[in-house]
Amino acid sequence: MRQRLSSEPDRYRGRRRVPTPPRSRYAAVVTTAFVGAGIVALGANALPDAKSVSPSVLDELRQASIASQDAAARADSADRATRAERSSDATTDAAEQDPYLLPLHGYDFKSPYGVRWGKLHTGIDLVAPEGTPYQAIHSGTVTKAGWFGGYGYAVIVRHADGTEAIYGHSSAVTVKEGQQVKAGDQLGLVGNTGHSYGSHLHLEVHVNGQPLDPVPWLQERGVDIKLETEALYGDVAAS
Ligand SMILES: [Zn+2]
Repeated sequence: MRQRLSSEPDRYRGRRRVPTPPRSRYAAVVTTAFVGAGIVALGANALPDAKSVSPSVLDELRQASIASQDAAARADSADRATRAERSSDATTDAAEQDPYLLPLHGYDFKSPYGVRWGKLHTGIDLVAPEGTPYQAIHSGTVTKAGWFGGYGYAVIVRHADGTEAIYGHSSAVTVKEGQQVKAGDQLGLVGNTGHSYGSHLHLEVHVNGQPLDPVPWLQERGVDIKLETEALYGDVAAS
């Protein structure tokens, strides 16, 4: 993790409604374009909670900051890092509130999206023992929870942007149609129902009603389902 910079208290101006001088506000907008995943990975949770700093301390910091504008300019490279952090706060806050997550852990990524056995496999298969709970990858409304033909017992969650995630072959579903869920909420249990070759979760993503490969789609949202990693602060593409 990065060393604290002497100018670091500066960032509280951005987060806590203390007026920001026009120069750094402009700079924050400019640097937003250069904020990459590496900066985002620093994450707001790595920072001390600004709420624990009393208003009078913040005010002193602000006064000190205004009095030392030239010092801030000299420390430009350090300041740039701080500004990048500050501008990423809005992104990370949004991602924390409405993240994309893995549907479960401890699975084997088995069958990718694509043609299999002469027909299109419209999702990905995550092999896990029967009865393993699985969770919503993103917030939304449950539009299907029950038997769904070849999908067996399945759950469909429609996200706010209209995309849908289908979770198939469950041994049981644990939500009801019409229910609102958040990322990480349990939807059901992994199983082997419908057209299934063994206990696994079939995950499918539909955009504009059409299935697409969930792997890159999730990667753009900070979830690498092949490597079984999720970045709570990685919602770069969606911002
Ligand atoms: Zn499948």
